[in-house]
Amino acid sequence: MKEIMKVSRLSKTYGQIKALDCVDLSVREGEWLSIMGPSGSGKSTLLNIVCGLDSPSDGSVRIDGIELAGMSTGELARYRREMVGLIFQQFYMVPYLNATENVMLSQYFHSMADEKEARRALDRVGLGHRLDHLPAHLSGGEQQRVCIARALINEPTLLLADEPTGNLDDKNEGTVMELFDELHTQGMTLVVVTHDASVGEAADRIVYLEHGRVASLSI
Ligand code: ADP
Ligand code: MG
Repeated sequence: MKEIMKVSRLSKTYGQIKALDCVDLSVREGEWLSIMGPSGSGKSTLLNIVCGLDSPSDGSVRIDGIELAGMSTGELARYRREMVGLIFQQFYMVPYLNATENVMLSQYFHSMADEKEARRALDRVGLGHRLDHLPAHLSGGEQQRVCIARALINEPTLLLADEPTGNLDDKNEGTVMELFDELHTQGMTLVVVTHDASVGEAADRIVYLEHGRVASLSI
């Protein structure tokens, strides 16, 4: 099976702090990986480097064979736009745009806004009946599903999520997890950072970080 993400000897220092210390990790196409570990263990730093929002101090990140280390800011922006889908704990939606328009906005940055396609993306995440709702009129789980539709609109090679259920109650967490399950079944490659064991355990494999190092791998 093809390797979609390959992280080799990756380190990141912020002044005296070693946020990541020689991390090796690989993810195969279609795999669902959880990254777990205590607060401050380097999970977000790892995800931010993999999506090109932050740069490594040392080591290599290859996504679908493409090396990120050494890319310019513009090249990283293009990589993010074309190859990754990002989901965060915060929803970062524009409050005065409805669900469809929020998805179209992200589509616009990738290629061309297309309302039909945006509606289809929302339908895919089970929100076909909420297309014209403003974020404030959606539940937390529904807002996060809009964010997932937004992350999928560029047909990413890799879906990256940082604490995607961190702001959700159990019921809404359940709907988001069902959706991840469905995407996984459809062959999407997923890397999900979480400190929630029930979210982590849904994955094929869990990597535990501690003090910026890989502490253990399940399987
Ligand atoms: P996690 O997501 O596992 O909670 P982070 O990756 O956010 O951990 O942080 C790892 C370590 O790096 C922490 O000690 C944190 O304080 C530090 N850190 C993260 N980002 C920065 C930054 N931009 N500047 C300085 N220190 C940072
Ligand atoms: Mg974090």
